[in-house]
Amino acid sequence: MAFDYDVLVIGGGSGGMAASKRATVYGKRAAIVEQADFGGTCANRGCIPKKLIVYAADVALTLKSAGAFGWESATPELQWSTLTQRIQSHVGSIQQSIASSLKEKGVTLLRGRAHLKDLHTVILEGDQPQEVTAETIILAVGGKPNRLDIPGAEHALVSSDMFTLKQRPQRFAVMGGGYIGVEFSSMLAALGSEVTVIEPSGLILSGFDHSLRQALQTALCDRGIQILPETVAKSIEKTGDGLVLSLKSDRGGLPDTLAVDQVLMAVGRHPNIESLGLEAAGVEVKEGAIAVDDYSQTTQENIYAVGDCTDRLPLTPAAIAEGKAVIDTLYGDEPVQVEYQWIPSAVFARPESATVGLTESEARKKFGDEGIKVFSTQFQPLKHQFTESGAPVLLKLIIDSVTKRVLGCHMMGEHAADTIQAAAIAIKDGITSDKIGATIGIHPTTAEELLDLI
Ligand code: FAD
Repeated sequence: MAFDYDVLVIGGGSGGMAASKRATVYGKRAAIVEQADFGGTCANRGCIPKKLIVYAADVALTLKSAGAFGWESATPELQWSTLTQRIQSHVGSIQQSIASSLKEKGVTLLRGRAHLKDLHTVILEGDQPQEVTAETIILAVGGKPNRLDIPGAEHALVSSDMFTLKQRPQRFAVMGGGYIGVEFSSMLAALGSEVTVIEPSGLILSGFDHSLRQALQTALCDRGIQILPETVAKSIEKTGDGLVLSLKSDRGGLPDTLAVDQVLMAVGRHPNIESLGLEAAGVEVKEGAIAVDDYSQTTQENIYAVGDCTDRLPLTPAAIAEGKAVIDTLYGDEPVQVEYQWIPSAVFARPESATVGLTESEARKKFGDEGIKVFSTQFQPLKHQFTESGAPVLLKLIIDSVTKRVLGCHMMGEHAADTIQAAAIAIKDGITSDKIGATIGIHPTTAEELLDLI
């Protein structure tokens, strides 16, 4: 059977773009369907606009400590609407360059909401409804924010709403202390909002290393963020003066109501797979996500799924790596699997935190208490000594006590993401503690302390 395309990708986000571009490298006829804006979550309502607000927060923090460096003029004020308009216009220019780069690579861009009709046919709805066929179909439809089923949930914002808020809320609550909730709480606190994080467990950032979780929770509290541990919001009521959350806490002495201007529900995300025609094509779903094997193949031989619509690592670099790996497996010399173990990640809170490899508890579980050595330090970096403000830096290395291989590295402090990104290259490559000790640092930096840790 002759197909319209060799590869048809549904979803123009990080994973879909990577797969479609890679297919053209092998000379394949590739098309990508997008229902909204090319660039997906990351470019339009995730990583990029978020990082731009982080930069705005950094300006606020720098201004706060400017006096320590001899700057004496009056503090300028943030115009929130100018910031959000500039972010929207920057996102618009990214969308255009993404679309041009796809076209330049020879990818055909299709617009509309797509669903599977059968194994090889996709129906596009929208301004120009059509049916297209492809030998291989890649599902890259991403995810969307969860909304808790509590009374008044409709009054809460989700992460995508944060970039179009008309004004910065003065009193702001965040339900959920995962990385997205923590990042927004940190940004808004730096910009001057009174922020409360409602966290169901004892500590924010479930899944991260315990020391990092503790250090960041303390640092955020020191910056004036109120964290309510072991607490959930039961309902949200709209009043003449904003919103009132009723709270239930397993810890004594915490408030049972909270009055705010806005509340963000940052309680996880779920795959965007409703009405995708998965049943029509016989593609199986497991626990709400598209079921895939180690090569991103679904239960149908010619249909693959990458990125946040599967239940793996919901980060942009993972989606990109999965998209490329599918194409390399199909058309390259040998099958390619994504190695998840050494994918680093960051929490762009202030202070910034980042991590690669195993947490201490994962390493203890895998290697036993005698099987690992843990080296960690907390110290005030030069800048904070000078300004007499800011949280101590945390650096932590987990080493295999037999081979001396670095199993995990965790950091909280300025430039943590860039430091861990560089460290991840060596750690993935199997660097040992001896080699770290034999490396000469750059002085004066925060990262040089890593070399003296062991
Ligand atoms: P997406 O980027 O979500 O793309 C899916 C695309 O498919 C969308 O454009 C959607 O419109 C389209 N689509 C869906 N259904 C259909 C259909 N039926 N027909 C046609 N088109 C369809 N990750 C990081 O690595 N670093 C970060 O700092 C970071 N920050 C984040 C901050 C926030 C607030 C959020 C929400 C996420 C963040 N992420 C971050 C996660 C990252 O954005 C995602 O992991 C990544 O975008 C997933 O890519 P994807 O290709 O799977 O899906």
